[in-house]
Amino acid sequence: MPELIPSSEIVTPDPSANPHRLPRAVVPRRYDLTLEPDLEAASFAGSETVAVEVLTETNEVVLNAVEMEIEEATAEIAADGQTGGEPLLANVTLDHDAERATLTFDRPLPVGEATLHLRFRGVLNDKLRGFYRSTFIDGNGVERVLATTQMEATDARRAFPCWDEPDAKAVFGVTVVVPDDLLAISNAAELERVPVGETPDGRKKVAIRFADTMPMSTYLVAFVVGPLAATDPVDVDGKPLRVVCPVGKEHLASYALEVGAFALRYFSDWFGIVYPGDKLDLVAIPDFAFGAMENLGCVTFRERYVLVDPATSTQAELQAVVDVIAHEIAHMWFGDLVTMKWWNGIWLNEAFATFMEMTCTDAFRPDWRRWVDFGLSRTAAFDTDALEATRPIEYRVVSPADADGMFDVLTYEKGASVVRMLEQHLGPDRFRDGIRRYMARHQYGNTETSDLWDALEAETGEPVRRIAESWIFQGGFPEISVEEGSGDTPALRLAQRRFRYAGNGNGTASGGAVGGRDGPRWSVPVAVESGSEATVTVDRLLLDAEALEVERPPGTSWVNANAGAHGFYRVRYVEALLTALLDHLGELTPLERYTLVDDAWASVLAAATPAPSFVETVERFVDETDLSVWERIVGGLGQLERLVEGDAGQRLHTRVATLVGPARARLGPDVRAEVDDDRTRSLRGLLLQTAALLGDDGAARERSAELLDAYLRDTTAVDPSLAMAALVVSATLGDEALHDRLVERFRASENPQDRERLLLTLSRFRDPACLQRTLDMALSGTVRTQDAPYLLRETLTNRDNGAAAFAFITDRWSEITERFPANSIPRLVSGVRAVRDRALAERVVAFLADHPIPQAQQVRQHVERMWVTVALAERESERLAAYLGS
Ligand SMILES: [Zn+2]
Repeated sequence: MPELIPSSEIVTPDPSANPHRLPRAVVPRRYDLTLEPDLEAASFAGSETVAVEVLTETNEVVLNAVEMEIEEATAEIAADGQTGGEPLLANVTLDHDAERATLTFDRPLPVGEATLHLRFRGVLNDKLRGFYRSTFIDGNGVERVLATTQMEATDARRAFPCWDEPDAKAVFGVTVVVPDDLLAISNAAELERVPVGETPDGRKKVAIRFADTMPMSTYLVAFVVGPLAATDPVDVDGKPLRVVCPVGKEHLASYALEVGAFALRYFSDWFGIVYPGDKLDLVAIPDFAFGAMENLGCVTFRERYVLVDPATSTQAELQAVVDVIAHEIAHMWFGDLVTMKWWNGIWLNEAFATFMEMTCTDAFRPDWRRWVDFGLSRTAAFDTDALEATRPIEYRVVSPADADGMFDVLTYEKGASVVRMLEQHLGPDRFRDGIRRYMARHQYGNTETSDLWDALEAETGEPVRRIAESWIFQGGFPEISVEEGSGDTPALRLAQRRFRYAGNGNGTASGGAVGGRDGPRWSVPVAVESGSEATVTVDRLLLDAEALEVERPPGTSWVNANAGAHGFYRVRYVEALLTALLDHLGELTPLERYTLVDDAWASVLAAATPAPSFVETVERFVDETDLSVWERIVGGLGQLERLVEGDAGQRLHTRVATLVGPARARLGPDVRAEVDDDRTRSLRGLLLQTAALLGDDGAARERSAELLDAYLRDTTAVDPSLAMAALVVSATLGDEALHDRLVERFRASENPQDRERLLLTLSRFRDPACLQRTLDMALSGTVRTQDAPYLLRETLTNRDNGAAAFAFITDRWSEITERFPANSIPRLVSGVRAVRDRALAERVVAFLADHPIPQAQQVRQHVERMWVTVALAERESERLAAYLGS
């Protein structure tokens, strides 16, 4: 189990004690940076003038640079406030492993101001990091090239020599030299363009100079050059907002403009500080390793998070666009304006942006019930955090590579869940006021995580630091057990223990709650709701100890120990209390019902509840109307359906069809234009898919086939949710002719959502020959390297062909690790979590032991989770079959 590290040890008090941090004898104040990319030759030339402050006399300047050549470096020393005298020429040495350049002068630079001049050359790589190349096919079928940047975490040093650490904030004045038929953008607005001759093939060149940025970290610098188009700007309270995308795709930009304008206003108001940039471009990049990147004023995205046609997209696809745009715009304040001192703070940056993304999306489209849907994200966090191999949210980060491991579900989803729990405990208004205090105090600066807790404490008077630190400095989460109190008056006894899954392969035979008196302890904000015939009351308390007793109001008929369902904990009721709660489902909110189902399924994985009990529990939800609750029910049933074959399988199919039948009847087969909201449409699609596959319902299968035909003839002819369901059902059951049709459509489609949908659907085929075609296609060059890892991950989770997918991946492993972005490899590997066969699981373990990847902890988590699936199958298959047969 990860140790609890006291907070005082998390932050190295003296940065000079960390060998990965640059000496601070000389620090940058301002960079004037000029870059000239050559897109055809895949290279760039650059020069920079860096105004620095010499804090300690030295004849050495150490900064970061890698995979580049520094052709010349000189220094000028300011004398009496004037820069002058002979420039000092530096001797430059590059240390590739340390990613550093050392400039050595033959006499010391005195304390005070100085100016460095450097000239350098580098390559435009195809690894989607630093300054890199991306390509697309334009409307005339011609391949076009663009150059773009992805600096976070520490790849600015691949684009220009710099102090590549988040607290070395400086002003950036960027100039790019490009053929004048290309579009060039950077963090700030364009100031001027000056002709500077011609390219060798006779195109006119211009030097485009951009305005100065605010003082900011190097990881936020961006420049993008290529055959791109920009929409007309939308004025958002004086700041121009545009979408920039490959030429020919502008018609898909209007939704992002609407969302971007909303989010920019929403956050200006929420933080109480105007947007700190002078303009904002949302830039769609064809090849992109992450989802998006919050470069100040020049946010870059995967195409599908910016370019979208609302008429043909599902609610989930649109919501992803809104979420990601809102997330990145929240970072303009939280991250860009106020920035972590060092990479250990990256989790707060991301957790908070994820939290703010939800609040903004919820304000943009209240009918999407974003916080209910967030339940699914929280489930994903629980699912990793219930493992031995979990980690604390915040941990000691020595090298920047340590920080790369932070970009995972524990940072984003668990971090956001903990922030949400805290916000609900403190109250949304008091919480926001505390954040405003923090932002106002630290703007343009750098902070430690604890600065935020201190601001919230000062605002609210609550022990915020103590609560927060119990959640961020230890891995895992508690299960709260709830039983009748021991005294004479009606009371409840609540006790906390760490929750774990069973069967992790490490010798822990049983899961459930472990720990007891000496186990880990959390400061748990618990909200207990008690209902009687007449009233419902809510008690808010902080469970700090192992256990406590609370009074029960007289006449209470049911109790919910996670009222509002904002707590990041699981609840285990004694049987009588659970039965009473299930008898009062109508009293609970959708998120509370979701959480009840989610806890029930987790209890099965922990071997604390047998699978048949889960089936009986979800059968109580026959009147359920909420999309997220149904998604959770279907998720659990889908796992169980993999464990039973033959007659038992058929009986489970019948039970599922019976469960979803009434809900389908209530919704009707087709969209009711005036009546249905977006979530209702999504639910209709989900239930059709469930009836056809898990319910083995022939009529639902036929209906899916008809819908698919209509959709493939005309994308706009079918409701997007029904089209999605029809695709999944038909591909799952489909043959090679259908596979060909879908691939053809994928190649022809220009629409990012359509392409994504078709691509991932190809992972569903149960027919082995079809799945083999999908696997071959993933590495054929038809699929971008940004997408192929996710396609392969999905094939690993294929119900019947996971073993074939794994064999293919192991065969082609060296090609995969060479071509795909490094951050995507552990995501591909995450597909093994679905493996339920012991022999295959053993092959997975042996292969990963022989083929280690840098993100070792994430791999340990995936493997451990795989053993949980194996244990589930071995424990429940026979029991479930026997139950269904009885
Ligand atoms: Zn982010």
